[in-house]
Amino acid sequence: MLEYLKKLFIGSNKEFYEFLEKRIKESKKTFVVTANPETLMTGRINTDFHKALIDPETIIVPDGIGVVKAAKMAGIAVKERVTGVETVEYLLSCGNKMGLSVYFYGAKSEVLKKFAGVLSQKYPALKIAGLHDGYTDDENKVFEYISQTKPDLVFVALGIPRQELAVYNNLHLFEKGIFIGCGGSIDVLSGTKKRAPKIFIKLNCEWLYRIICEPKRLGRFYNNNIKFLSIVKKELKK
Ligand code: UDP
Repeated sequence: MLEYLKKLFIGSNKEFYEFLEKRIKESKKTFVVTANPETLMTGRINTDFHKALIDPETIIVPDGIGVVKAAKMAGIAVKERVTGVETVEYLLSCGNKMGLSVYFYGAKSEVLKKFAGVLSQKYPALKIAGLHDGYTDDENKVFEYISQTKPDLVFVALGIPRQELAVYNNLHLFEKGIFIGCGGSIDVLSGTKKRAPKIFIKLNCEWLYRIICEPKRLGRFYNNNIKFLSIVKKELKK
């Protein structure tokens, strides 16, 4: 776990956005993983995902508060959470300002339809290279379509680790672009799902809100978060 934590982007949100803007301007291919404890736990049991995470080119940002806490326990000076949904919003407004082309892959087709409406209203200057739902076609086939459009930004929402593996295994098809596995962000930004109220976000309890809304997440939360912290503690003792 420590090998992932040591790789984390430790700056502020503002610094991360500046980094992304620079990469866009320089046309540098960039793959961003927004990590919560579940992401890093998955890396321990999935060899392909582990390879993607430890790749020096892969940028990992601390999305979940559990990751921020674990990093601090390990003496890594992470400034704050850098969340997937806020990074997506930033990239969309940046894309709107710069007239970038954007491809969205993942989520249900009815969610994407709603999202297309939101995009044209809120980000009229974004060029939509394509929208492809996450329930039809195989990942590699979709990535062939995506690569033909040569997009500046690629958002993939298929759940972890499928979204990250789909990106990582197909990055070679692209010469440039910012790629990010964005989980439920399309559901939230389309207005289909609600993000936690501000007070939960402020108190770093967004995870609690998700459990209240979807109680079946409790088992998953326990398995990934509590075990995650105890593994980090054990590794630190060694
Ligand atoms: N999703 C998808 N295809 C699938 C499974 C999931 O497109 O086969 C989408 C789903 O509709 C949602 C996103 O992946 O928009 C991520 O879902 P969720 O936030 O539940 O992911 P998790 O918490 O499992 O990472």
